[in-house]
Amino acid sequence: MKTVRDLTDLKGKKVLLRVDFDVPVDDKGEIQESFRIKKQKETLDHLINQGAHVVIVSHISDESVGKSFASLIPQLHVLLGHEINFIKTVSEVGSYLERYLPAGRQAQPALLDNLRQNEGEEKNDPEFAKQLGEGFDYYVNNAFAVCHRENASVSVIAKILPAYAGFVIEEEVNRLSDAINVSKEGKIIIIGGAKASTKVPVIRHFLDKSEYILTGGVVANDILKEKGQDMGSSVVDENSKELLVGLDLQDPRLFTPTDFIVFDNKILDIGDGTMHSYMDIISQAKMIVWNGPMGLFENQAFAKGTDEIAKAIAASSAVKIMGGGDTIAAVNRLGLLDQFDFVSTGGGAMLAFLSGKKLPGLVALEYE
Ligand code: ADP
Ligand code: MG
Repeated sequence: MKTVRDLTDLKGKKVLLRVDFDVPVDDKGEIQESFRIKKQKETLDHLINQGAHVVIVSHISDESVGKSFASLIPQLHVLLGHEINFIKTVSEVGSYLERYLPAGRQAQPALLDNLRQNEGEEKNDPEFAKQLGEGFDYYVNNAFAVCHRENASVSVIAKILPAYAGFVIEEEVNRLSDAINVSKEGKIIIIGGAKASTKVPVIRHFLDKSEYILTGGVVANDILKEKGQDMGSSVVDENSKELLVGLDLQDPRLFTPTDFIVFDNKILDIGDGTMHSYMDIISQAKMIVWNGPMGLFENQAFAKGTDEIAKAIAASSAVKIMGGGDTIAAVNRLGLLDQFDFVSTGGGAMLAFLSGKKLPGLVALEYE
């Protein structure tokens, strides 16, 4: 995979930089979680310091800002440490490159408004990619979180411009492939949360590559249901049978909870017995990969399992890798984020990578 390290002559070059600035915004218009923005700074600084003219592109889905970056520019300025010019539409990028970036002028980055305002983006439309790439010398993808999507700014754009990975993608790929490839002794995978269709493939891929897989959340509910347990009114996936096809549910390495916190006939957290047996395993581990809360952690009454597992992981001497929007929120609430060796910027993309799938955005960068 070619990375920005391979771009040695960037002076005056025009670079299209795909990032992930899809942040949640609160009702005061303030960015709630800036982790993924700050992660972009290293690559942006590198390109600017090499003399490149950078136009940043991203999508944003928050409705409260009308799915637009317009009102967020001052905050981006502070978070990134650069003044950011704002370009409203793709059709204005060409004139921006010509008018504001004549050769020799001091580089100042610009941000194009929400890519998904353009129909072609999510259709992976080559015509849109051509329009987007017009006038640029290089394309740099640093948006790992969208690499599992066939989108124009992630996939087909690499057919239009010479394509390179930024530092975020380089690090994600290195850390996550380490997690897959490191010897299985002492390696444990903890999988919880909902959206089992994205999680079961990880279990499948890691079963032979790890010592234990500890499950919680709705994923565990699905497994328990298929094992024949009465789940009451607990949340389970309707298609749990199909989801679990080919997975040996009796495999002794695959752990499911044995006791629960139940409310209103619903399993909403793992019980103390399960929690302590998971904590014992965690304390012995050499490598831990975690995605997905153990219960309905948003409600403090059902957060104990998730919180105690998070604390046990944080306290362990293992290499600790973690990701997923809700998992990050749960750990962040405890102030333990910096105890992890690596926090992935990708939820769905991380799970797809850990499932052994080929990600379109990485294929576009010729990652094997
Ligand atoms: P992540 O974003 O970290 O990948 P998910 O989105 O897959 O995690 O799952 C998190 C969601 O799963 C949370 O909203 C949490 O409340 C929910 N959840 C976990 N366990 C249960 C449960 N037993 N019953 C209902 N919801 C649950
Ligand atoms: Mg989530």
